[in-house]
Amino acid sequence: MDGLRILIVEDEPAIADGLIDLCELKGFEVKHVSDGISALAEGLSGKYDLILLDLMLPGLDGFSVCDQIREKDKDLPIIILSAKNADRDIIDGLQYGADDYISKPFSTTMLFARIEAVLRRSRVKPGVGGRFRIGNLFVNLREYTGRRGQNPLSFTRKEVEIMEYLWKNHDSSVPRTDLLKEVWGYDNADDVSTRTVDIHITKLRKKIEEDPAHPKILVTFRGEGYQLRTDSE
Ligand code: CA
Repeated sequence: MDGLRILIVEDEPAIADGLIDLCELKGFEVKHVSDGISALAEGLSGKYDLILLDLMLPGLDGFSVCDQIREKDKDLPIIILSAKNADRDIIDGLQYGADDYISKPFSTTMLFARIEAVLRRSRVKPGVGGRFRIGNLFVNLREYTGRRGQNPLSFTRKEVEIMEYLWKNHDSSVPRTDLLKEVWGYDNADDVSTRTVDIHITKLRKKIEEDPAHPKILVTFRGEGYQLRTDSE
């Protein structure tokens, strides 16, 4: 979970302290707020990869926070953590758009298993602000920035367009000719233009790959195209 940003919303100091410690231990960057109004403001800031949300909060209750975040952001993973464990509350939570619901008290193992499951599902599409994560690579398409582990990255417009297109088609290999058409607007591919694609890919790999000579994220697929491997760890 290195470098992932988590927002913890919890007004009970003892529970909050425990969660903060646990999440930091797992490598999350943690922000904690203890009321519903701050939770909503932070939740909509686009800075987080996941929210752990308590229900009974001062200011604005967790259901409303969840509901209002979902109105603007369909993808941000939200897990409700609550002492309320009636079926009705769980159903409400899920209907307000939470990804999962965990009743207190909970075991640490179970909490992180659920967090991992929710994050795995959320990776399939870029979240708020066109952000995505593959292993320890984080990319913010809208800001042209990212991180590989702790190394900050910046991207050119073409690199962002390449990644965006590959991301949209991440379940299949994308032929060079498709990239040329979509990113460069060329209808007819020739040797020079396909080489242009390859040169950009090489530059991009130097930024995003641990070992650019043996790419694991931006792979060449059967010599005919490229694929962004979202399952790469
Ligand atoms: Ca509470």
